[in-house]
Order: sequence, then C-alpha cells, then structure tokens
Amino acid sequence: MPIAQPRRSLVTGANRGLGLEFVRQLLARGDRVVAACRHPGKATALNALAGEHPGRLHVLPLDVADEKSRTAFAHELPLVCDGIDLLINNAGVLHSGERWGGISAANLEDSLRTNAIGPFLLTQALSSQLADGGTVANLSSMMSSLGTDPDFHSPSYRISKTALNMATKMLAKALEPRGITVIALCPGWVLTDMGGSGAQITPGESVSELLETIAAATPARSGGFYDRYGKAMAW
Ligand code: NDP
Repeated sequence: MPIAQPRRSLVTGANRGLGLEFVRQLLARGDRVVAACRHPGKATALNALAGEHPGRLHVLPLDVADEKSRTAFAHELPLVCDGIDLLINNAGVLHSGERWGGISAANLEDSLRTNAIGPFLLTQALSSQLADGGTVANLSSMMSSLGTDPDFHSPSYRISKTALNMATKMLAKALEPRGITVIALCPGWVLTDMGGSGAQITPGESVSELLETIAAATPARSGGFYDRYGKAMAW
C-alpha cells in the first residue's frame, strides 16, 4: 500500500530553484529531509534551513552525473537516515542557445548524464534504501513529449528528458514488486534560473501542487507521466 504522507524524503539538486522549494515545503509539512547538492559548503540557503531544523534536515554532497559521487552518497545516506519514503529526482541541466549545426557532444553527454542516467542509476543505487510502498518522482518536462513540435529548441535537454521518461517506466517495472510508485512529473514553466524571468508560476505554487500529486500517487499510476495537477501527459 502507498504511504499517504511520506515522512523521510530525499531531494537532489536541492540548493536552488525547485529543489530548494521542495525542501522548504517538505520541512513545513513535518518530513525528515535529506537535501543533496553538488557543493554543500556553498549552499547558503540550505545550510540556513538546516540551522532552523536541527536533526530534521541533512545536507549531503551529490553530483548525480558522477558515478563515484552516487556511490559515495549511497554509502553515506544510512548514516543520517534509516530509509527513504520519497525520492525526488529533481537535479537537472538545460544548455541554452543550441543551434542546428553546432550541437556539441559535450552538451548532449552532460544532459544525458545529468537528466537521465543520473536519476536512473541513483534510484538503482538507493533501491535497497527505498521503503516498500514509497514513491520516486522524476522531474521531467513537457518538452520531452514526442507529440509536441520540437521546433529545434533545447535539443540536448529534450532528448535527455525523453530518455528520463523511459527510465521512469523501467524503474516503475523494476520496483513494482515492492509497491514503489515511480512517476514522471512536469512542474509547469517555473520562475527559476532554468525557467527564466518569462516563466508563469512561482516555485512555491509549482511545488505545492506537485507535492499534492505525489501524495495522491498510487501503484496504479506508477510508470506514468503527469502534469503538476496530476493530469496524465502525452509521452
Ligand atoms: P535550476 O537550474 O534552477 O536548478 C537546477 C538544480 O539542479 C540546481 O540545484 C543545480 O545545482 C542542480 N544540478 C544540476 N546538475 C547537477 C548535477 N550534476 N548534480 C547535482 N545537482 C545538479 O532548475 P529548476 O529548479 O528550474 O529545475 C528543477 C527540475 O525541474 C529540473 O530537472 C528541470 O529540468 C525541471 N523542470 C523545470 C522547469 C522550469 O520551468 N523551471 C520546467 C520543466 C522541468 P548547481 O547549483 O550545483 O548547478
């Protein structure tokens, strides 16, 4: 059976943007939170939150794109947490300004490593620490959708998020026997460094709706792709 209100949560890319807002709202609802980011020493906002919530927020280093970092993280996690009910694979990268004729292997590789390989292999590395009946939420994007006109905007990002969608389905299958629900979510177009100043909604609004959708996720919805309100999206 799914857990109605996860209590031990892990967020990747937690030092800014949507990740930081996930941490804020998870703490506000009473969760114990592990916030993973590349450079904890520079994560001022996260460290301030950790000071306000002693014992309830742990900040650990994790570069999701790096195998050694994922392995070290998987070893360190049990030292601060006795299991994870909710894993939010939030960390992501978008290389802007790509133009046909000048797409670099470096951008494509970095996008795939960060946006698809990272969440997939991190979830595999942490699977024994995920609680039965828990939830994995992968931050995808409507830009991944094969049904949309790609209009040659951000190709490395789009290709990597489409790969993340398949990774979501594969993880859902792998974790199905343990009642773990794995979903892909589009947060909307959000005012963050990635979303830019033209975006439509605040991180606060997006995350509050995403957390409601995550809380309502059941095994029957596992392997699906949803908007922030929980409406199914086209792959
Ligand atoms: P931001 O660019 O504002 O933040 C990205 C976060 O990911 C940062 O914390 C960054 O850390 C972290 N990150 C990047 N690469 C790595 C890595 N290799 N290892 C660990 N952390 C990493 O993005 P948003 O907050 O807007 O986006 C969060 C998620 O939501 C992403 O997956 C994104 O694709 C998705 N999304 C966002 C939308 C939007 O409109 N904002 C729309 C659709 C999807 P650092 O500070 O170290 O760079």
